[in-house]
Amino acid sequence: LSDINPGSNPRIIARPDHIVSRSMLSRNALKVLYRLNQAGFQAFLVGGGVRDLLLETAPKDFDVVTDAHPEQVRKLFRNCRLIGRRFRLAHVHFGPEVIEVATFRAMRDPARDADEDSGDEAPATSANGGGGHIDRVVDDSGRILRDNVYGSIEEDVWRRDFTANALYYNIDDFSIWDYVGGAQDIADRTLRMIGDPVQRYAEDPVRLLRAMRFAGKLDFSLHPDTARPIRAAGPSLLDVPPARLLDESIKLLMGGAGQATMALLREYDLLQYLFPMTDQVLSRDDTDHDRRMIEMGLANSDRRLAQDKPVTPIFLFCVLLWSPIRDLAMEFARQSEPHAEDEPPLDPQAVREATFEIVSRQQGRVSIPRRFAQSMSDILTMQPRFHHLQGRHAHRLYDHPRFRAAWDFLLLRYEAGEPGIAEQTIDWWREVQAMETEQAHEKLSSGGRSAGTGTGTGPRRKRRRRRGGRGRTRGPSDSGARPDGATPPDGGGDA
Ligand code: ATP
Ligand code: MG
Repeated sequence: LSDINPGSNPRIIARPDHIVSRSMLSRNALKVLYRLNQAGFQAFLVGGGVRDLLLETAPKDFDVVTDAHPEQVRKLFRNCRLIGRRFRLAHVHFGPEVIEVATFRAMRDPARDADEDSGDEAPATSANGGGGHIDRVVDDSGRILRDNVYGSIEEDVWRRDFTANALYYNIDDFSIWDYVGGAQDIADRTLRMIGDPVQRYAEDPVRLLRAMRFAGKLDFSLHPDTARPIRAAGPSLLDVPPARLLDESIKLLMGGAGQATMALLREYDLLQYLFPMTDQVLSRDDTDHDRRMIEMGLANSDRRLAQDKPVTPIFLFCVLLWSPIRDLAMEFARQSEPHAEDEPPLDPQAVREATFEIVSRQQGRVSIPRRFAQSMSDILTMQPRFHHLQGRHAHRLYDHPRFRAAWDFLLLRYEAGEPGIAEQTIDWWREVQAMETEQAHEKLSSGGRSAGTGTGTGPRRKRRRRRGGRGRTRGPSDSGARPDGATPPDGGGDA
């Protein structure tokens, strides 16, 4: 009943009545807006840019909408490229900054389309009018496959997802145009879908995830009407291409509020459609430390992002998938030593095989690129190698380009309370890293000490020779230290 349906008259919030000032926009965004405007087109800042400025946070990027067609935009900017198949967009490049310029698009409520199909109801605010035919292809479940018809700003509002994302900052007089009560929703910190939520989720199931992302990141509450259909609509995510889910997953987890967003994904039963194995780990209660590790891993990366430190999705995928990878590696080890009375220790080669196997099981949902899998395997196969405190293996570990990431990962496991990691192992590697390179190498030399794999509490403490057909592979450049000596910590760690 409380569907938000954009009317044709916006509430126009004049410059003195809002806090967005030109100085908050990037110079390049301003340049684009002004040039469009001077060429006689309408030009608005829209979407996350306006929303974030009203929330007094720095926007990630600036999106512009205009009534100029992409070809007209291209003529105005030398540094402009047209992209997109389903929608054509102009990208204006300024060094590393890209300003995305979209033409107003019609994407109206299909029910309305049916009712009003004959009418020319698009008010002629736009020089190019809403006069196009509706070029929209929808599949059986209502999902939009193609939609590339230009319209007016009144029509453009309809295709936006949430009211908070549908505010238009007009460069002509610095007012904000609000067709859907977005300014009030922002003030109330409410995330509310425009139109009929059931239908909007059906059109594009990724909106389910966007709801989680914005609620988590902005710390907004979901309006009850926006929240209610989410669980039932969850299975529609199974139809979304895994490549798109990869992009969206990275935004969900690495948007700065990964921990909060993960909690929402669980609360709304959506994690199972992205990371089913992780969802199972989080649903069990016999693996406290695995759950804790996921929580801590996400919290860490949120903290790093807040401090402008680099984070990589590879590390987070390691965090999400470690539990199934480790369990599978243990299973491989048991298979190769079926008569062992003790649990065999984790074996690097088994971890490697398990990593590729688990990543391939994950592909059907979120497609993890091959090069990610390779890096994950590097980080994870190094885990059992940390138990060699001295000797050839220890040197090689320390010189590995991914030593730092692997160390951070070991520390995370240890701090989450995963059994099998001795405190002396952690202390040892801390000491090594506190030293100058040369000293560190001295410490790693001499003898073949090993901390064993156990904490001293479990049966894994007893060490044994392992082989069982999966001996270590020799890499192509298995010749020990790199010529430049150690690869120092990448400087990004918190430890
Ligand atoms: P961010 O801060 O993550 O960039 P954003 O709101 O700008 O957030 P974008 O993905 O950059 O999000 O999209 C820009 C705008 O385009 C959104 O604010 C929204 O109005 C619209 N939009 C993007 N994706 C969708 C979608 N799947 N359905 C409806 N509208 C969308
Ligand atoms: Mg954006």
